[in-house]
Amino acid sequence: MINNLEQFASDNYSGICPEAMDYMIKANQGSAPAYGNDEWTQKATDYFRELFEIDCEVFFTFNGTAANSLSLAALCQSYHSVICHETAHIETDECGAPEFASNGSKLLLAPGKNGKLTAQVIAEMVTKRADIHYPKPKVISITQATELGTLYSIAELLDIQEVAQKYNLKIHMDGARFANAVAAMNKTPAEMTWKSGVDVLCFCGTKNGMALGEAIIFFNKSLAEDFDYRCKQAGQLASKMRFISAPWLGLLETGAWLKNARHANQYAAYLENELLNIENAEIMFPREANAVFVKLPEQVIQHLKSRDWQFYTFIGVGGVRFMCSWNTTKQRIDELLRDIKGAIA
Ligand SMILES: *Cc1c(COP(=O)(O)O)cnc(C)c1O
Repeated sequence: MINNLEQFASDNYSGICPEAMDYMIKANQGSAPAYGNDEWTQKATDYFRELFEIDCEVFFTFNGTAANSLSLAALCQSYHSVICHETAHIETDECGAPEFASNGSKLLLAPGKNGKLTAQVIAEMVTKRADIHYPKPKVISITQATELGTLYSIAELLDIQEVAQKYNLKIHMDGARFANAVAAMNKTPAEMTWKSGVDVLCFCGTKNGMALGEAIIFFNKSLAEDFDYRCKQAGQLASKMRFISAPWLGLLETGAWLKNARHANQYAAYLENELLNIENAEIMFPREANAVFVKLPEQVIQHLKSRDWQFYTFIGVGGVRFMCSWNTTKQRIDELLRDIKGAIA
């Protein structure tokens, strides 16, 4: 049986939002030049430049793994290394694609509270070894919002920028939930990226409401040299590019990207607040974007699973992640809460 009810496993369980669909349909009129030489792609690219207040280079890929892997590969040589948090998606969920795309650049894993790297831990990783036998650190990869649903503040980003400058490191930002971060932080996209030292951002459209499609934004344009060839070689150049770029324009031009992100954040906040009132439910990390991590008794988890609720339990024992998206409804949250309360009682 198909369970098509709203779920809490991931924001990519959601469908296509109306604005993205609307532009997809608009783009489906007649023919248009292929491989990104169309008007939709030009307009979306220009919109990103306006949004980020900078003349940046923009590329589109099908998914986030490709966006992260190819952009990291553009920032380092095979003998370099990438410093990331031990829970980073590039380490835990991309099947070695960053190493594969870069012909072997090693990921160096760092610990850190609430899923975040600090300037201090980065400095320690860089200075730990200086000999030729160790892959030379070249890139810092940070995720905004993080895999644990937390946010890097501007102050934290600026600290990381300082250490990056000191040790000549580039900064890559995995923005799978960048929209949620912008919606939560009340800062401009520019302040949250290149003004804080970010060289390249992988901005996710899929989780924000598109069918598929990520934008890779190089603020440091020299790093984008020949990147179009890299995408093509990796099988990431969409021939009918307009069906990625038009929905992107739909999200951007209508403001749906922020509306969707705010919606997801607000519902996560609501869920968190309700969980705080439930004895035996323990919030694990500060809820700052659209994810709520909570420790629940094992029998509650089993009960929820038997009731067909979808969610991830991959962090620690009893750690449950509830992810909200643009189509999360209060009704479904209330149903979830009712089942949690029922199992605890
Ligand atoms: C979803 C996600 C991605 C992209 O994953 P794909 O399945 O490759 O699209 C990248 N980083 C993070 C943190 C994610 O949550």
